[in-house]
Amino acid sequence: MRKKLRGDNGPVFDHATTTNTDLFDTLPDDIVLIVLCKLSSTSSSPSDFISVLLTCKRLNKLGVNPLVLKKSCKKSLAVRAKNWCDEAHRYLKLCVKAGNTEAYYTLGMILFYCLQNRGSGASLMAKAAIRSHAPALYSLALIQFNGSGGMKNDKDLRAGVALCCRSAYLGHVDAIRELGHCLQDGYGVRKNVTEGRRLLMQANARELSNIFRLKDRHSLDYFELFESHPVNKFLAEWFGLSVNRLDEGLRMCGYKECGRPETRMNEFRKCSGCGKVNYCSRGCQAHDWRVCHKVECAPMEEWVGHAIDDVEGDEINGVDGVGDDRTVEIRDGEVDGMQI
Ligand SMILES: [Zn+2]
Ligand SMILES: [Zn+2]
Repeated sequence: MRKKLRGDNGPVFDHATTTNTDLFDTLPDDIVLIVLCKLSSTSSSPSDFISVLLTCKRLNKLGVNPLVLKKSCKKSLAVRAKNWCDEAHRYLKLCVKAGNTEAYYTLGMILFYCLQNRGSGASLMAKAAIRSHAPALYSLALIQFNGSGGMKNDKDLRAGVALCCRSAYLGHVDAIRELGHCLQDGYGVRKNVTEGRRLLMQANARELSNIFRLKDRHSLDYFELFESHPVNKFLAEWFGLSVNRLDEGLRMCGYKECGRPETRMNEFRKCSGCGKVNYCSRGCQAHDWRVCHKVECAPMEEWVGHAIDDVEGDEINGVDGVGDDRTVEIRDGEVDGMQI
């Protein structure tokens, strides 16, 4: 606590200065801003950074400086769906205004999928994509592949492949996998099975290296392991909190951690094995296959078929998917062309 002392005839002494207990006030704003920038770019949750802002008036004022907001990392912007409010929206908008690429993507996804403001959402994601934000490029690719926010005829496969290419080039595993399937199937690009298979193996190899890298840190965070973005968690929570947030007849992506909902009926593709789950992408299908669908994917007809097979010796194949125009082709024991 600052205490002023007066000598017998002398000047006023600042006790704080003499005891070095309040050096913070003597720090120039530039230095405080550098520290805050470092904090906002490394904090592991929004609350970490907010608690710093609540410390004192000075930090509160400098904490919302555009220089600091621009540096906020994706974990620092990872607001929970249950905590969504006008203030959270305003904070993200401030970060967008400051030019934060993660904020462009996070708010873009929330606007596009949760608040159904498709135009503004896609526009913000595009701003992130222009700044080489790999998840934004991949998300825009999925929007193009699925014709999200529009009709089936609004699909632009070539644009989807182009966006996927850019995201894959930046190392986004799901984009590499999607591109591999596109090449294998000749979907939006000239068919090249060999190159497609190479990319699929590359995606698997990258995931494996991530697992080994994070295993050293004893991390079991699946999101981090497979590079899911915090905004996917927001989406999953948002639609998980209330079924009313999803229009009747629309379904969520079958991979629970994805959180993407359909924007029109039958937008997502079905698993061709069981025809019961729908996925926004091949990447989500591959993740879900590993997490749980591998043991769940058993077409009823096949079970019935086996039962009949025992009696009559007939063979009944699984049912093909009936998605928009491209079904998810996954067979028991096989993911991305690799036996597992
Ligand atoms: Zn998905
Ligand atoms: Zn299935």
